[in-house]
This record gives sequence, structure tokens and C-alpha cells, in this order.
Amino acid sequence: MVLLRFAPSPTGPLHLGGLRMALYNHLYARKRGGKWLLRIEDTDAARTVPGSVEGIRFALEWAGLEYDYGPGREGPHAPYFQSERRDLYRSYSHKLLESGHAYRCFCSADRLTETREKLARTGSNATYDKACLHLTDEEVARRVKAGQKSIIRLNDSNLPVRTPSADLVFGQLKDAHASLPTDPVLLKTDLFPTYHLASVVDDHEMGITHVLRGEEWLPSLPLHLDIYACLKLSPPKFAHIPLLVNPDGTKMSKRNGDVQVTDYIRRGWEPNAILNWLALAGWGARHPEREREGPGPTPVNHHGAPDSTAIMSLEELINEFDLSAMTHRSSSLDPAKLEYINKRHLMNTWSTPGGLEDLAEKVHDDIKGRFPTSSYTSVDHIKEAILLLEGRLTNIYDVPIHAPWLFIEPDLTTGEAQNMLKKISRHQFRHVLDETLQKLSQIPDESWRDFDFSNVLHTEQDRLGYSAKVYMKTLRHALTGMKDGPSVADIVKALGRERTLSRLEILIA
Ligand code: GLU
Repeated sequence: MVLLRFAPSPTGPLHLGGLRMALYNHLYARKRGGKWLLRIEDTDAARTVPGSVEGIRFALEWAGLEYDYGPGREGPHAPYFQSERRDLYRSYSHKLLESGHAYRCFCSADRLTETREKLARTGSNATYDKACLHLTDEEVARRVKAGQKSIIRLNDSNLPVRTPSADLVFGQLKDAHASLPTDPVLLKTDLFPTYHLASVVDDHEMGITHVLRGEEWLPSLPLHLDIYACLKLSPPKFAHIPLLVNPDGTKMSKRNGDVQVTDYIRRGWEPNAILNWLALAGWGARHPEREREGPGPTPVNHHGAPDSTAIMSLEELINEFDLSAMTHRSSSLDPAKLEYINKRHLMNTWSTPGGLEDLAEKVHDDIKGRFPTSSYTSVDHIKEAILLLEGRLTNIYDVPIHAPWLFIEPDLTTGEAQNMLKKISRHQFRHVLDETLQKLSQIPDESWRDFDFSNVLHTEQDRLGYSAKVYMKTLRHALTGMKDGPSVADIVKALGRERTLSRLEILIA
């Protein structure tokens, strides 16, 4: 069975790139009937931000990405915090010392800096002069006994022969050792491991079969394979995932818009839409309709053109997920696509049993907060509002923005409302309202809900001799204070008899 891991460092809130990585791990594991765990890589105390783990767990839960093991879900691979696994790293680094694949280095930070600078001046790629590699065993023992601080380095001049690096996304790779530091550090003076040692030890100890991680770790792959080889362990399979970047190709950052998952939660985006949007940024799902039509104009992966706006549930993403359809270049996220995808997910949600209720519940507090004195903010009223706005909503939080008049009396003093009034005469305005009021007041309350308002309003319009533009716009303005919106027939029905008539009466009084 495959076992994967999502291994964030707790250095702040989860951002979209992190959620996308968790998602790909989830998709790959579930597609293959396997599991995944959440491992917290907290070996760098200086960078650890309190509350990050809670934030990461909250974001994963919101998204519906349920890990099988990890904090709060104890299982066979505990503990899940690297800070609680330090004995393991120490014991593996000692194994490497014993086999001669690693050595202790006692150089001071100052000496290391000087050495690095000196080597750089000579045009060398080396970052360390291996001075401590040549200490005798006795000298090392003496210094350790004397309490002198040391780090443990891998000895890169004594590496076993191993198979070349291969990656499930990038394929066979040339081993680029030259870009790695000389004799990379495995264990630091504070006895915490570096990422390299910790990830190798944990991936092995936890029985991870596939490592799906960000492309920024691809240059470290040769080093990790060397550590596996030195320890005589067989490595897991690796898949490095091209990163998300800003549209201009720079690293995603707060300056270019929202990057934290909590920003998206707060703004009311649907979790399924966010997953759909993130999954298709860089991975081309085979879109069933596209397949029927044949390959699209710009195929970018082995499966023909991906459709980055295909609407897919988490289940469908799992079924379709395929690493070989991952692009080899960075991807950027398009906010317009999120709007489109979210709109479609909203429509799917409210047509599933209980979905409409869930959406109404979700926006309930926001609406109550905006209109505290309104008596029309119950969940049932909001459900009706959602149905009324079907097809217009890109985000569920837009309900009160598209139709504030459902909750409070319309504001006819806004610029938009006044501009509309300029286009018709005061006389026409009163005439339309007066005649329509008389007509509508003949309809009894019991019949209101099922009444064919479209028919009666169009008949009135013809009878009075107005164009639809003047007649319907005048009524929409009077009832909602807005220029656009649902049909007047739908507005009248949604407002109910009492509110419709009183809004007309007030304006002609
Ligand atoms: N802690 C690393 C990070 O947050 C994880 C890399 C990995 O998945 O191995 O980037």
C-alpha cells in the first residue's frame, strides 16, 4: 500500500501552495487506495511560529483533506513532530559516523564564513575546505570529551555508487552534485537535524513509499539519495511538483494578492472550488468533454490539452489524477478562473440534497451582521434569496451585495438609483407605480406565491403603453433601488405581498 506525507514547516499560516501540495498527496494516495500522514517539520526553532500547526490543521479540515495519521489522529508512525524524534536523527548520524560516511566538524562560524569566502575568491565551487575531515580519531574524541561543540557533516568524497536520480514528474535526471554544498551538514550544534537528514530518516522510518514535494527540493535529491545509499536504505519514489508563482513569474507573495488559505475561507469561497482551482494549476486533468471533441489547440502534457476550468469534485480529481499529466513549468493562479469555478460549484451544491441549507447557513451570520434590525434574515429567507439569485452568484457572500433589498428597505438615494430616475419623468414614474399597485393589490396573499406575475406585469406594461425598458426598470428601481437584478416578476414574488405593496405605496404617497 502506498503511504505519502505532507510535511509542512510550522512557520506561519498555510498558504495556497501548501494546500496544493497537501491536495496532490491526498489525490495520489487515494487514487492508489493508500494513506497519507501529516508530519510537522519543526526542527528550526527560530522559524517556528506559534499557532501554525493549528492553522494548518484547520485549513486542511476546511478543505476536506483528511489525513490518515498525524497530530490529533495518532497512528502507527507517531510521533508526528520532528522535534519529538531527535533521538532517531542522532542515532542515524552516529551510524554514518561509524561507517565513515560522516564526520564531526568543530570549525567556528567565523572560520566557516572566512573559508567560504576564500574558496569563492579562487573560483572554486567548494563551500568548505574539509579541514575537520583530517582530524584523527583521538583528536575528535579529545575535543568531544572537552565539550567542544561540533556539527556532523556528510563526507562527500566517500559516497557509495548508487543508481542515478529519477523523478516521477521530471524523469531521469543528471546528478548535479556541483550545486550542493561541500560535505552538507546533517546535524547542527544544537543537535537538531537539518532538513536533509530529518526527511530521509523520517521518510524511511515512517515507511513512506512516495515523496511528493515542491520542486524547490529537486536540487537536493542527489544528496538525499546519497544519504539513503550511505545508510544502505532503499529510497522512496520521488515526485517534484512545479511551483505556483505570480503571473509575472516571481515567487507568490502577499504583495500580489491573497496567498493564505484563511483569506479564501474568510471571503467565502467554496472548499471544493479552491481544490478544483489549485489542482488544475499545473496538472492537466483529462476533461471528458474535451476528450470527446479531440485534443485542444495547445496540448501541454502527455494527455492532450488540459482544461484548467473543468469543474471537478474531489472524487473526480482523485479518479483522474495522474502525475504524468503534470506540467514541467511553474503555474500561476488566475482569480477569474476561481470565480468561474466557484460559481459552478455553488450551482452544483445547491442542487444536491441539503446543499441549499448548508449554503444559507454559511452566509447566515454575515447577513445577520450586516442587517441587524431586519426580520428577513432567517435561514429560510436566505435560501429563497439564493434561489432567486441563481446563476448570478460567483460567491455565496455576494447574496447581500446582489440583493440587499431582500433584507432591508431599498436605498433610493444612491447615485445608481438617482441616475435611473433621471431617465424617466416624475409623471411616468407615478403612473407606472400607481397602476401596478392597483393591479397587484387585487391578488390575495394566499395566491401570491404561485401567481404568474410575469404574465400580469407584461399585460400591464402593454395596457399602459410603455416599453419594457421604462416599465420594468421603473418597477425594479422602486422595489430594489438597483439597476440590475432578477426579473421584476421574481422580485415581487420574493418580496411577498406586504412588502411589495408597501414599497409602491410609499413612493406614490
Ligand atoms: N518542510 C518542508 C517544507 O515545508 C517539506 C518539504 C518536503 O515535503 O519534504 O518545504
